Amino acid sequence: MTISQNDVLFERAQKTTPGGVNSPVRAFRSVGGTPRFITRAEGPYFWDADGKRYIDYIGSWGPAIVGHAHPQVVKAVQEAATRGLSFGAPTQGEVEMAEEIARLVPSIEQVRLVSSGTEATMSALRLARGATGRDKIIKFEGCYHGHADSLLVKAGSGLLTFGNPTSAGVPEDFVKHTLVLDYNDVPGIEEAFAEYGDEIACVIVEPVAGNMNLIKASPEFLQALRDLCTEHGALLIFDEVMCGFRVGLAGAQGLYGITPDLTALGKVIGGGLPVAAFGGSAELMSKMSPVGAVYQAGTLSGNPIAVAAGMTTLKLIQEAGFYERLTATAKRLAEGLTDAAFQEGVTFCADYQGGMFGLYFSAEPPRNYAEMMAGDRAKFNEFFHAMLDEGVYFAPAAFEAGFVSAAHDDAVIDDTIEAARRVFARLK
Ligand code: PMP
Repeated sequence: MTISQNDVLFERAQKTTPGGVNSPVRAFRSVGGTPRFITRAEGPYFWDADGKRYIDYIGSWGPAIVGHAHPQVVKAVQEAATRGLSFGAPTQGEVEMAEEIARLVPSIEQVRLVSSGTEATMSALRLARGATGRDKIIKFEGCYHGHADSLLVKAGSGLLTFGNPTSAGVPEDFVKHTLVLDYNDVPGIEEAFAEYGDEIACVIVEPVAGNMNLIKASPEFLQALRDLCTEHGALLIFDEVMCGFRVGLAGAQGLYGITPDLTALGKVIGGGLPVAAFGGSAELMSKMSPVGAVYQAGTLSGNPIAVAAGMTTLKLIQEAGFYERLTATAKRLAEGLTDAAFQEGVTFCADYQGGMFGLYFSAEPPRNYAEMMAGDRAKFNEFFHAMLDEGVYFAPAAFEAGFVSAAHDDAVIDDTIEAARRVFARLK
């Protein structure tokens, strides 16, 4: 039997890197087995250390919306690199990127570029607290907003109790201001505002959630958040790090027609390199340093190469019909998989929004964290590994959304569905 280079690398990696990975979900802990070490990627595919090809449905967890190594993005990066890697001084590219984001995202007049989604949400939160002079924040169970201390929180033991840290090393004191509520629960949010309305700095929410599989907010839920925040002088933050430029060109705020006070962006706007951002009205953003009193900074913020990749990606997604095609691709996949599962008698359903999709081993798509957790995870894990053997790479955990790109053509989707049909036949 030949030894897999993935096993060799994983063994080696674990000696010098905790768990062998630089971000936990990559370790396959949830599904078991050896993570694939990726050597290269192109279009809808990537290849592992054994040279095996996979159809990739994570797209670097969202950024690869135009497909991997798109020639125009690669060219822009190469050209930018020849002009220097980082200056620590402003560039024209950053001005153009800010103008482009402000033009496309309804809630944004001014934007600050950062290097990760974590920084974007953490800074938006600080701004919300700085602007309102209040400490308490509301988040929703199952939404992930990066790993800032006050956001690593799960629900407390009773309704309207403040949360508990979900990570060691986060002091109780840091999360005692974070209230964790159920997603899509309008009475829950009404109750919270009735109790704490004048103490709440902000509500942060993924308007299309992609960190508890794919769960769409109901329009009533987002409208209730908007109305209650306005009524009580709290700020509404949409964390569109994942869904921004993914569910549509104007993000979830464009889709729902609901305008938050602050928006966090990431992933797609960097086109595969580290760019994220947060923004809002000029008035609110004027509270940021160096104009205002809310401090935030970054050595590599607005890095010229990352901005070149991001700007090129933002241009490509504005080509006529881009989101119609992306949505049609996700629809073809979701419907094809659902059909195949039905024919093979497997309890399964799927949903999609723009270029994001969810696969559920349950009869109906979940509406909140508890419903998502009730899905058949053992079945998902079996499905995941069988698909991997077939050369299809879905997110290695039942809690994650999937992503299609413009490079996933009908033939790629149909190959995936045929592979899934073989797998479903063995699953029941
Ligand atoms: N917010 C959301 C909605 C995310 O999906 C993520 C990352 N998956 C983050 C924030 C954090 O972004 P990053 O990993 O770039 O820090």
